Amino acid sequence: MNGLMLQKQLLISSLIEHADRHHGDTEIVSRRVEGDIHRYTFRDCHRRARQVANALVSLGVRASDRIGTLAWNGYRHMELYYGISGMGAVMHTINPRLHVDQIAYIADHAEDQYLFFDLTFLPLVKAIAGRCRTIRAFIAMTDRAHLPQDSGIANLLCYEDLVEGHSPDYTWPDFDEDTACTLCYTSGTTGNPKGVLYSHRSSLLHTFAAAMPDALNCSARDVILPVVPMFHVNAWGLPYVACMVGAKLVFPGPGLDGQSLYELLEAEQVTFAAGVPTVWQGLLTHLEQGGLTFSSMRRTVIGGAACPPAVLRKFQDGYGVEVLHAWGMTELSPLGTVGAMKARHHGMSPEERHAVQARQGRAVFGVDMKILGGDGQELPWDGVTSGDLLVRGPWVVRNYFRNDGGNPLRIDADAHGWFPTGDIATIDADGFMQITDRSKDVIKSGGEWISSIEIEHIASSHPAIACAACIAAKHPKWDERPLLLAVKKPDAQVTGEELLAFFEGKIAKWWTPDAVVFVDAVPLGATGKVLKNQLREQFQDYLLAS
Ligand code: ADP
Repeated sequence: MNGLMLQKQLLISSLIEHADRHHGDTEIVSRRVEGDIHRYTFRDCHRRARQVANALVSLGVRASDRIGTLAWNGYRHMELYYGISGMGAVMHTINPRLHVDQIAYIADHAEDQYLFFDLTFLPLVKAIAGRCRTIRAFIAMTDRAHLPQDSGIANLLCYEDLVEGHSPDYTWPDFDEDTACTLCYTSGTTGNPKGVLYSHRSSLLHTFAAAMPDALNCSARDVILPVVPMFHVNAWGLPYVACMVGAKLVFPGPGLDGQSLYELLEAEQVTFAAGVPTVWQGLLTHLEQGGLTFSSMRRTVIGGAACPPAVLRKFQDGYGVEVLHAWGMTELSPLGTVGAMKARHHGMSPEERHAVQARQGRAVFGVDMKILGGDGQELPWDGVTSGDLLVRGPWVVRNYFRNDGGNPLRIDADAHGWFPTGDIATIDADGFMQITDRSKDVIKSGGEWISSIEIEHIASSHPAIACAACIAAKHPKWDERPLLLAVKKPDAQVTGEELLAFFEGKIAKWWTPDAVVFVDAVPLGATGKVLKNQLREQFQDYLLAS
């Protein structure tokens, strides 16, 4: 017997419709590439998204066509999020920090029909224009006054002309919620980037889950600033969450340095911001140097890479900003776990709380997880035993776009498909998962595993260290031993011996790195993660040579 409730497809367009109808005068504030601050409302955004949809129809865009973007976090990008997906086409956000060859590959592989771009990325667009076989025109996301005169791009259109040239008279079509809405490629540190194609249904379910109190805890009383880019896994879903709950949105555009972020956080009275640890380190340095404090920020979600305990402590104990540590992946839309406390954690000392919060957190409803040993058997949730982390759920990838990337799923004895994340983790009795490493970064010393993340956390809590990366270096006796690459803070003094002595009593003696190499910087990838494969190439023979 079927239930007797109304049928309504879960569609992206319903989010902006809701935001317009129920939170129409709530603001969206953006720092623009043109240099100024732009502000308008959800109602304005909805009107312009419908103009975008009409413009796309006039350009001949049909359902399921992929439309690329190379753009910062801003209101025009938001209009495209809703205009493109809402009319039934597929929003394809491209990460401009990828190598130009990868960008050309991705646009070609996705068969993008049009590419919208912020002016910052004009040189990139010039570099790929001749290499993308399917792109019919490039649209600069600016007005006529700022449009470059001699761009050298034959088929260049102006966003404002295009949008304002069309009527807002448009009714969002109704279609199957399993229809694709967004395409994101993984960053492809090894091999070609792989396309993950989200559906309207998976994105809506992810939005509900992300907004919940024990997830990102968002409401109409929030002012949300996503530092995490809209070109990387939909800014962790925040442009959707804000519409669902009616929160004010603040977009930082290209201003991601500590000072620009701080100015915007304060001017717009932001309550909640989201970003990767490296961005927050820049902001915290700016606060420290200027003796500044936050007047409105209450909490922040940190993910994408492990949050160093030093960052957690500074935010919470130094500035009264609650830290939510989250874990996810492009293949998970991206949210998997969030480190929200349980009632039993209330009476804990700050140190005990920090230890819980340093873990990547509990599964949000919708995501199930398990850890497996080398023999494929499920491992206990004791907080100590580590193994391969697998997940499943309605917003987890089933297949990569055009099947390029192999079959991602592992089928268990009950014929259920599980996605192997490539991460190594423990899970404790409360269900808190902790990433100890990516499987390709783990250090295998004499057959035993050493967690590079744990070593990095200790090193980066030394007062003289700005950041640290620990890699497996070849060793004649133990096969691999940890080698620590460290970046000193400006003007700070510390020797390798002093830094190694700092590990005493903090981890097992045999986990202590064999050597320290001070470097000026560590290489970061397109999503803010340390490129350990590059470091390994450069330093893997270091211990053999010394
Ligand atoms: P990529 O495109 O580089 O794969 P993703 O953002 O999808 O980018 O990366 C997902 C990976 O990032 C995870 O598998 C995990 O290794 C790492 N990661 C994400 N969040 C965290 C976190 N909070 N702590 C540790 N690692 C994390």
